[in-house]
Amino acid sequence: MISQELKNKAKQIGREYNVQVNFRVKRFSGLAYEDTSTVSINTNRTEDKFFSALFHEIGHIHCFRNGIFPAYHYTGMLTLEIAKEFKKTAFKAECWVDKWAKKEMEKKLPLSVYEISYDLKTKKGKEFLDKYYQAWYKKIEKYELERPLP
Ligand SMILES: [Zn+2]
Repeated sequence: MISQELKNKAKQIGREYNVQVNFRVKRFSGLAYEDTSTVSINTNRTEDKFFSALFHEIGHIHCFRNGIFPAYHYTGMLTLEIAKEFKKTAFKAECWVDKWAKKEMEKKLPLSVYEISYDLKTKKGKEFLDKYYQAWYKKIEKYELERPLP
C-alpha cells in the first residue's frame, strides 16, 4: 500500500500538470478522465508502479489537450469513423504515452524506475489488444445496427 506521504506527492505532481489526482480506482493500475483532467491511481501497487501509472495517466490528459492520437482520447459522441480510428491507433497511442511518461517521470522522480504499461510481448499487452479492440469492434457493430449508415 502507498503511504499518505506518497499520495500527497502524487497530488503535488498532478498539480504541476494541472491534473487532479484521486485514488478510487481498484480494478486497473490507473484511469484517466480526459474531460475533467482527472486521473485515478491504484494505491495497491509498489511505489514504482504507482508513480508509473500516475505519469502514464497524466500522459493521456496531455494527449487529449494537445490533440495527440485524438480518436483514442476522444470524449464526444461515438461515430463509426472515430471508432475505427480508435481501433487503428489504440496500441500506438498507448506506446506513445509510455514513452512520454517515462521521460516525464525521469525528470520529476529520477530515483524511480518507470514500468512500461503496454508491450506486445507481455501478457498485459496482448490482453490490452484483445479486450479493448474487441470492445470497440462491438461498439462499431452496435452503431451500425442502431444507426445504419446511408
Ligand atoms: Zn494508457
